[in-house]
Amino acid sequence: MNAPPLDIRAVTKDGLLEITWEEGHTGLYPFLTLRGECPCAGCVDEHTGERRLDRATLPDDIVIRDIQLVGHYGARVVWSDNHDTGIYTWDRLRRLCPCPKCSSRSGDPGSQA
Ligand SMILES: [Zn+2]
Ligand SMILES: [Zn+2]
Repeated sequence: MNAPPLDIRAVTKDGLLEITWEEGHTGLYPFLTLRGECPCAGCVDEHTGERRLDRATLPDDIVIRDIQLVGHYGARVVWSDNHDTGIYTWDRLRRLCPCPKCSSRSGDPGSQA
């Protein structure tokens, strides 16, 4: 289980969700990527795990309207396309972090700094 982040905020002008984790690591998540990863039953088939959402149908200028913490384990994101059923757990968000450090866990830490 991952601890909740120290800070989570949507930077609308940059189109990024900024999350600061407790060890001081900051992840920057493009809104569109995050919306495309929505884990709710409407976007992912509950039984097969298959993604139903077609990312091509998402508006390029999608933004986060609101973020609501859900217990200690995650956050619900309210999107500008009126989609608000996805709950992003901290575990999931850690895994989605697009920075070189997190996306290349298998080694080679220095190449992209
Ligand atoms: Zn969804
Ligand atoms: Zn990261």
